[in-house]
Amino acid sequence: MTLVVCSLIESNIQEASSSSRTAFSEGADLVELRLDHISGLSLPTIREARREILGPMITTLRSKRQGGKSGTSGAEREAILTEMLESDFEYVDVELDTDRSFLKRMKVQESGPEIIVSSHLSVPVSREIIEKKLLEAWVLGDIAKVSMPCENAVQALMLAHAGLKFSRQKKRFVLIGMGPQGQLTRVFADRIGSELAYACISGKEAAPGQLNVTAQAALLNKRRTVFGLIGHPVSHSVSKPMQEEALKNLGLTGAYLPLDFPAKEFDGNAVRSLKALGFKGLNVTIPHKGMAFKLCDRRGDSAAATRAVNTISFDGRRIVGENTDVNGFSRLLDGKMCITKYTDSLLIGAGGAARAVAYVLSERKVKLSVTDIEKSRADDLAKKFGAKSLSLRRLWKSTRSFDLVVNCTPVGMKGVPGNPLKASFVKPGSVFIDVIYNPPVTKAMQTAEKRGAKVYGGLEMLVQQGAESFRLWTGSEPSVDAMREAARRALQ
Ligand code: NAP
Repeated sequence: MTLVVCSLIESNIQEASSSSRTAFSEGADLVELRLDHISGLSLPTIREARREILGPMITTLRSKRQGGKSGTSGAEREAILTEMLESDFEYVDVELDTDRSFLKRMKVQESGPEIIVSSHLSVPVSREIIEKKLLEAWVLGDIAKVSMPCENAVQALMLAHAGLKFSRQKKRFVLIGMGPQGQLTRVFADRIGSELAYACISGKEAAPGQLNVTAQAALLNKRRTVFGLIGHPVSHSVSKPMQEEALKNLGLTGAYLPLDFPAKEFDGNAVRSLKALGFKGLNVTIPHKGMAFKLCDRRGDSAAATRAVNTISFDGRRIVGENTDVNGFSRLLDGKMCITKYTDSLLIGAGGAARAVAYVLSERKVKLSVTDIEKSRADDLAKKFGAKSLSLRRLWKSTRSFDLVVNCTPVGMKGVPGNPLKASFVKPGSVFIDVIYNPPVTKAMQTAEKRGAKVYGGLEMLVQQGAESFRLWTGSEPSVDAMREAARRALQ
């Protein structure tokens, strides 16, 4: 069983004692008193801590070398550690590298605290080094602990795999991936086999990526619902607040974790590992939608038609792929205009998003044209969906206008300045849709509006594709309004 530990980083025992009461009331099983944060630490302070903090406790004197605040070393550090070991705490945390010789000389008392032997790494290292640290720690103490910053999900999964291996051997350990990319080791600490899951009181994070006690305690529950977003980069995902709002709205305990997989590091094994950990569903974004399509055992119509998968769900052992951008664009379009086979439509851009848009429009039998900076891309898309490929250069020189224009390029999104729309492409009363959702109003939308066109941004597509993913993963109907509101807030 994994226990929830709340790290306390107050500067005196009175405040730490008060915070410990909050931590226990919020669901912590024990607290970790970070003695390195206590100002004027002395031997009597340690006895005071035992008296004042009621409840099971770990004491830790994190050295500066390992990211803590304690500058003590040599005889002074050993005197404090000895006091910690003799003061009847439930656990004492010592450092493998800093305290190795002390640990070798130390006389272990049968009734003494459990000894956690820690390594706090400042950079990601190989699995071989992690396992070596764990093996060395087990010789010197009861529980081996390694924490490591994770730059991507591959490193976090490596920690998880090491944990699963030692868990099968019934070893006692704690493995923590730090930072947002390491969070899967916290959410699935129990599944990995970590004996302790470190958390914090809201706003008092002791390590990057720590969850608050309430969230950590709730997530260590087999009925948790956890989704992930696979992409590169994924750090500014709007889907996280949107999907977490949908979970909250249905009273489900869960999380949506952005998982950064660098190019070429995402494959079927990654999906199987995430499924084995307990992920209930995955979204996939740039640049992995094509790979996701290839690795699925079964694909829905939307995925088959676009040869791209943005939503992975699981049916027993099978990996099932869909492209909910199709549903997203379809719902965005609903009710916006009367579409017939005479609706003269133009897609600007023939990349990933354009495939979903072209599929929807071809199903509605419009007269479809497509253009792209790269003519061959427009040719391919046009061939697949029975559309006409237009040269971008010639189009800009012409005076041609359309009933419906959809921007499927990234031009105009945050960080990509510009405007892919020539004013004459639209006419008064026509419809212009920009699939970009950030910013909510793009330059192209302003251009189209000035011409008297009706304009729509991409937020609704984002919300509707997310809602469809949620339905596929859970079988439940999410509150689309709550998701839209959460996405809007995240974009402000
Ligand atoms: P993509 O795969 O890179 O495709 C964009 C295509 O447009 C590329 O072929 C690109 O060519 C071309 N292009 C760039 N500038 C152009 C211009 N001025 N005129 C004509 N063609 C141009 O990108 P994507 O994945 O389709 O995404 C496009 C946008 O849609 C992004 O902003 C994305 O955030 C948004 N999107 C929104 C939703 C939603 O739910 N609202 C869903 C999916 C995507 P080069 O590669 O040569 O530049």
